[in-house]
Amino acid sequence: MRILLVEDEPDLGAAVQGHVREAGHAVDWFENLAASDAAMRTVAYDLLLLDLHLPDGNGLDFLRALRARRDAIPVVILTARDQISDRIEGLSAGADDYLVKPFDLDELIARLNAAARLEGVEVELTAREWAVLGVLVRRPNATVSREQIEDALYAFEQEIESNAIEVYISRIRRKLGRDFVRTTRGLGYRIRS
Ligand code: CA
Repeated sequence: MRILLVEDEPDLGAAVQGHVREAGHAVDWFENLAASDAAMRTVAYDLLLLDLHLPDGNGLDFLRALRARRDAIPVVILTARDQISDRIEGLSAGADDYLVKPFDLDELIARLNAAARLEGVEVELTAREWAVLGVLVRRPNATVSREQIEDALYAFEQEIESNAIEVYISRIRRKLGRDFVRTTRGLGYRIRS
């Protein structure tokens, strides 16, 4: 998966980024909402890890704005122990899950995987397959161009082989079914919602 982490505590942010990377995911980390918002408008992330109390605003307002523009990205909120009202508000604002600080880093990985799991699908996908699939899943019924899929893969490798996308699409089809990903000839790929 390609994950966006929004956290302004340097030690915690670095620990989370390091651990999630070790688990095989790509992580972009920002310490404020403005930079995160800019990143989300150019990159198709698979999951958002969101602290609530940030230097330039409240994570809940950020989450509400995402949902208001129909962005369905899975969101896991990171919240302080004493702020129970934050958790309730977070879930009602459209979060998929929350973790109370200080949290166990392995627990975090388990929650990430649960929040991002496709409904009814229990197959093992590699981080790169997740990256490709994530781009398609975020835009059901729309044709996604090869360039957009390549963009997701750049999080993992500097140079992408010319046949890389075909390889990943064919692996995803083998795991999820031949018709799961449709080819729009000359334009790209799409999945049906
Ligand atoms: Ca904070």
